[in-house]
Amino acid sequence: MILNYRSIGELLIETEGISDKSSLEYKRFILGCFCSELVEYQKTDKDGGVSIGNILQLNLDTACSTAEFSLAEQLDPYRASEIMLFKKPAPNDPNIFGTTNALISIVAFQLWHSLDDATMKQVKWTRPGKAAEFKMFMEQIRDCFFVKTRTGWLLNKDLLVERQREQFPTPEEDERYQTQGTNAKYNDLLKSDIGNYHKQTLKELYDQNQGFALAIDGKYLHQGEYAREYLDFMYHKTVEGRYAKKIGGVCHLCHSEGGLGEEVFLKQKFFGTTNPYYFDNFSKTKTYTSFGICQDCDNKLVVGMTHAMNNMRFKVLDLSCIIIPEIDHVSGMVNQAELRAVERVLDQRAGRKDMIDREINTLLNLEKRCRGLQHALL
Ligand SMILES: [Zn+2]
Repeated sequence: MILNYRSIGELLIETEGISDKSSLEYKRFILGCFCSELVEYQKTDKDGGVSIGNILQLNLDTACSTAEFSLAEQLDPYRASEIMLFKKPAPNDPNIFGTTNALISIVAFQLWHSLDDATMKQVKWTRPGKAAEFKMFMEQIRDCFFVKTRTGWLLNKDLLVERQREQFPTPEEDERYQTQGTNAKYNDLLKSDIGNYHKQTLKELYDQNQGFALAIDGKYLHQGEYAREYLDFMYHKTVEGRYAKKIGGVCHLCHSEGGLGEEVFLKQKFFGTTNPYYFDNFSKTKTYTSFGICQDCDNKLVVGMTHAMNNMRFKVLDLSCIIIPEIDHVSGMVNQAELRAVERVLDQRAGRKDMIDREINTLLNLEKRCRGLQHALL
C-alpha cells in the first residue's frame, strides 16, 4: 500500500513538471503538503451551514514601528497554496512557521529560535548571497518589535496600537510569572494569557477556527522580499534537516543505498504483524533499523498521502476510508469521480441491481487501467 502512495506522489510531481529538487517550485510544492488542510478550519453553524475560518494577522509596520492585529482574509481552499498555512509535522516540534495554527508562536516569534549559526550553514540556500541579509533582517525585526523574556521573546506591548494593548501579557513586570518555578509552567501561563487576550481584547476579531499569520509591512513571510530564503529555511527544517546526519543504509522502498532519514514523519500510521517493513515497530529512536527511507521516497510519500487524504477519501458503511488505486505512468492519475463508483458499490443497498451492475462495469474498466485497486480502512 505504501508503494502506491509513492507512485501517486511520483506521478503528481512529474505532472507538475517540478522534478528539479533544488528549485524553489519543488520545495514549495513539498512544503505545501505540510500545510493544514483547510477542512480543519471548517465549522458548522447553528442552522447547519458550513463555513471556513479566517486568518488573524499580526502586521508589523517597519516604517512606524507599530503592531496591529486585523482580519486578513477568509481561508479559501482555492488559495490554500498561496496562504501556506503550516502546521508542525510532529506534536513535539517547535512551531516555527510565520503562518500557522497557533497564535502563541506568532506573538513569541518562535521562528527566530531555530535560525542559529549551525542551521544557517546547513540550509541549501537558493540565493546564497542573500542568506546573511535574511538573518540580519530577522534580527532587526526581533530587536525592534519583540522583548526578551525568561524563555524567549514576546511582542512588545507598547508597540501595539492602543486599543489592542489591554490584557496583553508583560511577564517581566507581572508577579505571577516570577513565581513560576519551571520554564514549562512559565510558558503555560503565557499561553493561557495569550488565549484570554485573544478571546477578550481581540473579541471583535476572534473566531474559534482561525489561522494566524505574521506579516511584515502587509506581506506574509513567504511573499515578502525574503520569501525565497524563508522557504529554503522552512524546507530545511521540515524536510531536508532530517537527512543532514547522513545515516547510511538501504531505502526500504526503492532499495537504493544512500542516506536515510533520521526521523520519519508519515501522515498515516501503518500497523500489521506481517508487514515486511516492520511499520508496527517503527519509532523515532529506531527509525533506521525499523523503517528507513531515502529523502526522495519520503517526499513522494508525503505528496501521495496528502493527495489521497484530500481526493481519495470516502465514507463506506459509515466508516471513513481511503480507496487507493494502483496507478502507474500508463494508467495515469485517477479522478475522484471514478473512485466514487467503488464507494457506491461497497455501500450498496438492496433493490439497486441495475445501478450496481453499471457501477461494477465502471470498476472493471478502472481495473483494466490500473491493474488493481486496494482498499484501506482507516
Ligand atoms: Zn527510496
